[in-house]
Amino acid sequence: MPELPEVEVLRRQLEKEYVGKRMRAVDVKTRQYVKEARPSAKRVTKHHVTPKEFEKRLVGAKVKAVHRKGKYLAMELDNKNYLVFHLGMSGHLVKATGKRAPDKHTHVVLHFTQGGDVRFFDARRFGECFVADAETYAEMMKDLGWDAINDQIPWQLFGELVSSRRVKMKPLLMDQEFMAGLGNIYSDEVLFQAGLPWDRSSDTLTSNETRRLSRSVGEVLQDAIRHRGTTLSDGEWRDLYDEAGEHQNNLAVHGREGEPCRRCRTPIVRVRVGQRSHYFCPQCQSAPVDSKTG
Ligand SMILES: [Zn+2]
Repeated sequence: MPELPEVEVLRRQLEKEYVGKRMRAVDVKTRQYVKEARPSAKRVTKHHVTPKEFEKRLVGAKVKAVHRKGKYLAMELDNKNYLVFHLGMSGHLVKATGKRAPDKHTHVVLHFTQGGDVRFFDARRFGECFVADAETYAEMMKDLGWDAINDQIPWQLFGELVSSRRVKMKPLLMDQEFMAGLGNIYSDEVLFQAGLPWDRSSDTLTSNETRRLSRSVGEVLQDAIRHRGTTLSDGEWRDLYDEAGEHQNNLAVHGREGEPCRRCRTPIVRVRVGQRSHYFCPQCQSAPVDSKTG
């Protein structure tokens, strides 16, 4: 499942290829997939729109910028509309020339006047594709927590925010309304880097631990972006050019059950709680870690 690093890789590639380019046509293949975000009394809600309504918001507009917050990706258009994507579990945005046969789960195709087509396909359909005007888009993004790499908050404030909750660390790091961007893979990696157990209660961290945690978030995510994201054995993540990432070779704990810890050689442990697996090193991530520095 794509997380912040994968979405950021796509953002940079889309920015490079499509800023300044115009949408010539938009081809909606799956009607149920396209929506429009509308402001409502409490929260922004999303509604189905017809392919015609959807196309009207996009065709002829030029891409002004490509934004990302957390796992949301948005093309800002010069007609004040935003075309927003969330890749969900298995969503892909792939640049395609006319020759490439469309993937069978293609839902939307964006045709640009230059630079070919971008196809959005998603086999499992947990992804999203919708249009929003500028105010509605801004409103939606406010419902997310701070972006894990773009919004650099001082570690002291980070610590206050973490300790103001009383939940297990891993679900907290994955809570998009707390901090946006981390999912199952990178929260395991961040907790390893910070030397914290996944089930440590967030209100028990020392200042040393919050400082290390805050730094780990940035380090882990930037490292993954440098390696163009993580493509696990399911092969799900592909970038704009349909290429796999390389960060899977650098993961410290996620998906490495039974393999030796890269720091201490202790076998990595996996625990399953509900639908989710947590990977960690029982040696490097045992509490308390107050005495450790660096
Ligand atoms: Zn270890």
